[in-house]
Amino acid sequence: MSRMPNLLVIGGHDPSGGAGIQADIETAIALGCRAFSVVTSLTAQDAKNVQAIYPQAIEPFTHQLELLLASLQPDAVKIGLLGDASLAGVIGKAIAPLHCPVVLDPVLAAGGGTDLASQAIIKGIREELLPHVSLLTPNLGEAYRLSGETHPSSAVSTLNAMGCDYVLLTGTDATNGDHVPISLYQNDHPSDNFYWPRLPGTYHGSGCTLASACAASLALGQDMLSAVAAAQAYTWQTLKNADQPLPGQHLPHRLPKS
Ligand code: PLP
Repeated sequence: MSRMPNLLVIGGHDPSGGAGIQADIETAIALGCRAFSVVTSLTAQDAKNVQAIYPQAIEPFTHQLELLLASLQPDAVKIGLLGDASLAGVIGKAIAPLHCPVVLDPVLAAGGGTDLASQAIIKGIREELLPHVSLLTPNLGEAYRLSGETHPSSAVSTLNAMGCDYVLLTGTDATNGDHVPISLYQNDHPSDNFYWPRLPGTYHGSGCTLASACAASLALGQDMLSAVAAAQAYTWQTLKNADQPLPGQHLPHRLPKS
């Protein structure tokens, strides 16, 4: 592709810069995409935890997204934090006609512990978004909550049945072992397993970085298996190079060091 691929990112703003739309934009740039961004919510948070979410009202959000998509043809879309259930329907309607991969990071809880999704948001993700999603990137807890199941394989089956083609299930929250397991499932069947050496810190924005890197790699034209493999390798490096500019969790280092 001679032009830069267009990556549309839709998600929340995190003032610490570790997670959210800043993570998405930095990842897009680092991987060679042009980022277009529509913010669902502002948040009050530091590198320890999320204290509050301030969603955009539905009217300005709809205006911003629809106006952008009237002239933009994205090569991939990445969706993160919603903040309010009503935005799910607006996003679902906007992405339904697009002919490009859509990556959804469900963001149901913050690493610091705050719950980021009501039952209404979960319903909105299930009904309005999953039917249009190519790749869902939950951790195990999010997969259970979103599917209503309590076993990884039944959770993946249920999520596939809700409409998403692939599930990349991350196990950072599942074990304390030396390695973090990550599995890609296509239509319910395991396609590949990855194991990453567990890094010593706690990281704010690792899930956002991974999902954005998947979306950027897909926008660059990679197939799903190559995209998720490349995205994991990139994300692991950003965590290995993470630093701690604020007290709390480490923040991924996504852009080349100058
Ligand atoms: N804030 C925003 C805007 C997010 O999008 C996310 C995760 O996607 C978080 C906070 C939580 O990030 P983490 O769980 O990595 O701390």
